[in-house]
Amino acid sequence: MTFPDWTPDDFRRHGHQVVDWIADYLARVEELPVVSRVEPGEIRAMLPPRAPEEAEAFDAILADLDRVIVPGVTHWQHPGWFAYFPTGASPPSILGDLVSSGLGVVGFLWATSPAATELESHVMDWLVDLLDLPQGWKTTGPGGGVIQMSASDATHLAFVVARHRMRETAPVERMVVYSSREAHSSVEKGARVAGVPHVRPVAVDGELAMVPAAFEAAVVADLEAGRTPLAVVSTVGTTGTTAIDPVRAVGQIARRHGLWHHVDAAYAGTAMVCPEFRHHQDGLELVDSYVFNPHKWMLTNFDCSAFWVADRRPLIEAMSILPPYLRNAASESGQVIDYRDWHVPLGRRFRALKLWFVLRSYGAEGIRAMVRRHVELARGLADRLESDPRFELVAPVPFSLVTFRHVAGDRATDELAAGLNASGDVYVTPSHLDSGSFIRVSIGQRTTEARHVERLWQLIDELAPPA
Ligand SMILES: *Cc1c(COP(=O)(O)O)cnc(C)c1O
Repeated sequence: MTFPDWTPDDFRRHGHQVVDWIADYLARVEELPVVSRVEPGEIRAMLPPRAPEEAEAFDAILADLDRVIVPGVTHWQHPGWFAYFPTGASPPSILGDLVSSGLGVVGFLWATSPAATELESHVMDWLVDLLDLPQGWKTTGPGGGVIQMSASDATHLAFVVARHRMRETAPVERMVVYSSREAHSSVEKGARVAGVPHVRPVAVDGELAMVPAAFEAAVVADLEAGRTPLAVVSTVGTTGTTAIDPVRAVGQIARRHGLWHHVDAAYAGTAMVCPEFRHHQDGLELVDSYVFNPHKWMLTNFDCSAFWVADRRPLIEAMSILPPYLRNAASESGQVIDYRDWHVPLGRRFRALKLWFVLRSYGAEGIRAMVRRHVELARGLADRLESDPRFELVAPVPFSLVTFRHVAGDRATDELAAGLNASGDVYVTPSHLDSGSFIRVSIGQRTTEARHVERLWQLIDELAPPA
């Protein structure tokens, strides 16, 4: 048996078929039910029990995409997608990802593909200006940016760096991490993975933002008990309700007590491309690390999580281990960045390409226009809900997430969410706070327009019982 490889012409032919398939998918996704309706196990039951012994025709694989896979897909790119947060997908990003796959480089050292490293540093520096982050975070300054797989990884990494920095002064068993009680679950998970045993969920105010005095009181109590406050996470745009922690006040307390201050702006970070949202993260000069996800709202396909440190030295100290086979003249010259030292894995994809394609294809003005459209649609929906006696808003709407509940209580709210999601036209996320059930409507899909939010409102209006 010979190796049945494709020729470049086979690739060209099938590549055109695949691009056509994706273009057709994007054109018709709106007609598909947003949420997949398969039962558990239904997809596997359509697959053969064993991998094929012999090469199959590509047409057979493509046919099975439609037959087997599409019915089991929940369509994140449907314009009626109002669940979780959006997936950052866009045509230029898909093509950038394709080029990354086409090049197939693994850019762990500058020397393993100089363009992979230099483009990544460069687009991350671009983002510093686009989002008005501190200039010192550029790779030309003391800090620097790197693309990570996810915000969870970045938060975990921040804890590992903070822990490493303190390794000679305090045992890890005594270390403590703080965040608001509304912070993402990745804070607790990151602390657990980093071996930090204590996580303090700090009290929040009426708008669900961290209360700085409660944070400081927790730090002082831990110090008095002989523990070591290690790090604090400020969230700009919590997952539940897009609450905004006071970055400056938290940063001042963190500085006073020597904590690492990490900002999680996973979703809301994209909004900072518009000057009118930047006051929400005032105080960034008091921050040690920052993460936001272009793969959420900035039109870039998963995975692409943008992570900066104000000072890259402790990051590299924590992550750098140099075996003889990675030694090379460029690294030893000290003139290049080796991104393997900026995260946990060695291998890394050329993810900067898709971000570069996105930033150039839309331009900052294009991204601003999309963000403002989503925010305006969210405010319009919030106004309607607020002026209808059946509903109440759960939290303010600083960005494009609307959270509301039915005034009749949890049952009416839960049933409304279930009814909306059974419609096939929209997908929302039912959620819960101490105050009860509520519905999250996240408006951020690239193709979502006024008529899609209108359809959502129509369904809410029809399905909701009287107050
Ligand atoms: C979505 C989200 C995360 C997790 O993002 P991943 O990239 O999937 O790990 C973390 N924090 C906040 C505030 C989020 O909204």
